[in-house]
Amino acid sequence: MSRIVVKIGSNVLTRKDGKPNVTNMSSIVDQVAALRDMGHEIVLVSSGAVACGRGAIRPSVRLDSVAARQLYSSIGQIRLINLYNSLFAEYGIVIGQVLTQKENFASRTSYLNQRACMMTMIENGVVPIVNENDTASLTELMFTDNDELSGLIATMVDADTLIILSNVDGIFTGSPSDPSSRLIERVAPGEDVSGNVVASKSGFGRGGMGTKCGIAGKVSDEGVAVIIARGDRPGVLVDLVEHPESVPHTVFEPSPEPLSTVKRWIAHSASFAKGTVTVNARAAEALRSDRAVSLLPVGVTATTGEWEEGDIVTVLGPEDECIGVGRASLSSAETSALIGCRGSRPVIHYDYLYIE
Ligand code: GLU
Repeated sequence: MSRIVVKIGSNVLTRKDGKPNVTNMSSIVDQVAALRDMGHEIVLVSSGAVACGRGAIRPSVRLDSVAARQLYSSIGQIRLINLYNSLFAEYGIVIGQVLTQKENFASRTSYLNQRACMMTMIENGVVPIVNENDTASLTELMFTDNDELSGLIATMVDADTLIILSNVDGIFTGSPSDPSSRLIERVAPGEDVSGNVVASKSGFGRGGMGTKCGIAGKVSDEGVAVIIARGDRPGVLVDLVEHPESVPHTVFEPSPEPLSTVKRWIAHSASFAKGTVTVNARAAEALRSDRAVSLLPVGVTATTGEWEEGDIVTVLGPEDECIGVGRASLSSAETSALIGCRGSRPVIHYDYLYIE
């Protein structure tokens, strides 16, 4: 038995005219039902609301991008969920809709609340279908795209595997359309393949291979295997789980040293940081070592921003380069007062520190 999060992109779920791609959706639902029969637990992260809404209405006046996203997603989301509901009902599978926003991941309390909801659904045999609540999201406070959301969900529910279904077979050594490009089949833990990705974005969704690659690297570092594959290949999900060698894909192998759940949350929290703590070269080296090292005031050279105990802060090295993120055990005022001092409590305890 394994727990699998499947992220399905807008281009797999909708046709070019903005109508739901019923063929692809039915095929995915058939495969989710088959995987559940084999004993796997499945969570879906489904895009397609905006793309689907766009095909359903022609606004009477020209809308700005925020208003258009709100309007289209409000219409498209129910169409998608209705279709999922009737397709899953054929198998007697109960689905539940989870619409979320970046704020729900910002504090530890709201994160644990969201996690508890997902876990209760999974324990009760419900298939959660997750999407961003695009009707309420503001551009600057949105997930980069649903690839980022799927990474957060995969680590939140302690998934074994995240499968990102896209409109290409995986990561190539160049442009996927260039015949001389080769599919990268395996990415080892810590290996950086982002240099291979050609900047391009697929038709409908917000994401692209660049963000997929970044998310996959991060999530696999946290101990979850990440697979990128093409969503419209017949039987792709079942094949990836049962006979992975039979279907083209890229797999990011999980780090053999998975992170604790709290560190996983911290790892994804950099965008909520309230301030920065700069450390000297010696402290940076110690933090980057394999030892369990907390960030102590003696290694701190400067701080910016204002934060309270429990808030997220970014850790910068001597060249102002970002080296990690952590949950502060001292406020910004306490930290500033203790800069360079020995023998104090840590600014960030090791258990709450994620070094990149
Ligand atoms: N949440 C958006 C939607 O459902 C998709 C975001 C993305 O393309 O990643 O339409």
